[in-house]
Amino acid sequence: MGQEYFHSVTLDKDKCKGCTNCIKHCPTEAIRVRNGKAEITRERCIDCGECIRVCPYHAKKAVSDPFEMIGSYRYKIALPAPSLYGQFNPSFGREKILRALLHIGFDDVFEVAAAAEVVSDAPRRYLESHEVRKPVISTACPAVVRLVQVRFPNLIENLIHIDTPMEVAAGMARRRAAERTGIPAGEIGCFFLSPCAAKVTSVKAPFGKEKSEVDAVFAMKDIHLLLLEQLKKMNGMPSEEKHLMAGPAGVLWACTGGESAFLEKGRHIAVHGIANIIAILEETVEERLEDVDFIEALSCLEGCLGGPLTVENPFVAKTNLQAVIESAEASDFDPDCLVADPSELEWTREMPYIPVLKLDDDRMKALEKLQRIDVIEADLPGLDCGACGAPSCRALAEDIVRGFAKETDCVFKLREKVSDLAQRFGDLT
Ligand code: SF4
Ligand code: SF4
Repeated sequence: MGQEYFHSVTLDKDKCKGCTNCIKHCPTEAIRVRNGKAEITRERCIDCGECIRVCPYHAKKAVSDPFEMIGSYRYKIALPAPSLYGQFNPSFGREKILRALLHIGFDDVFEVAAAAEVVSDAPRRYLESHEVRKPVISTACPAVVRLVQVRFPNLIENLIHIDTPMEVAAGMARRRAAERTGIPAGEIGCFFLSPCAAKVTSVKAPFGKEKSEVDAVFAMKDIHLLLLEQLKKMNGMPSEEKHLMAGPAGVLWACTGGESAFLEKGRHIAVHGIANIIAILEETVEERLEDVDFIEALSCLEGCLGGPLTVENPFVAKTNLQAVIESAEASDFDPDCLVADPSELEWTREMPYIPVLKLDDDRMKALEKLQRIDVIEADLPGLDCGACGAPSCRALAEDIVRGFAKETDCVFKLREKVSDLAQRFGDLT
């Protein structure tokens, strides 16, 4: 059922011990443990990376592109997410981090934070020129977009149809490089340095447009050591500030509140952490946030600084970033030379609903299945122990109705059945 997507988050079955730790943390109940091993239901997974964080055996991982891929392009541009600056001691400085990228193999750098400043003005213009249902939900975090698509289909209309800073940065960087060097656009590679798995997925399986502007995605944790060694070598060397493009406001996008800080008017909420986002989206569905204009939502705790592909503790990263922001000058970067028309930032296709949670296409049958779920659930112990491999008794009841599980997967039900059989056997003998 539903659309088949690429997923960055994958499971290494050999490492999985079937401990069930991950099943309760998945926001879309995408994980089951069956026959002693976890399984991810692909259609439900939103690549939030929660399961990567909680698996004690490191059986879940995020797949990104190998660094060697930069060799496939004649001109290589690094697109550092603003959260990269939080991964290093602020004494190195943002300019040095950008220059270190040139030393490890890139020909050019283009700060995604600069594109964030371009995107920042888009919601205001978008709200003025489009009829959008409020509260408008930001689409900067791909995990949140997928969460809405899978779990809150009624809110799909509230999503703002604006490209992410990553996509905008890639388009602008390629255009700038082609103009400066004369190299054909197809021979220019744009490489995003990502804090999270969801952004890897959004490049391989884009929403809002047919094809991503980004050619490959490297995990921050994969290049961190390489960069750190380079930064240490560069320590003490004079730093000419010639690669900085973004001002403090663009760099702030790495943290929660960075995006909504640009909205001068209206009420806006900035929320981080998947459980907090679910609570806000539930309130939105219940129409309790009708006086809110804009919701900025970032799936990871402390926003992108807490992404599963980062290396630094998100709270330390936040302090590092704060120092970077304090020393950042206002940007004199002129985006108008690279974005001809603001409508270029808008999505070119609609966001479809993924009906993975639908019980049946036929309404009557769906209702009947729902009633059966209620009946089965009422008969289960209600402990949500996870021993059956499903995250809750209700999820097991749903699996039974969908034909993926049986009642005796519940250890309590199995015990009941066994003692019942023993009783009957005793009566017979
Ligand atoms: S990445 Fe998120 S949605 Fe996907 S299986 Fe893990 S916890 Fe669930
Ligand atoms: S947390 Fe999930 S993936 Fe990790 S070992 Fe336990 S069941 Fe397997």
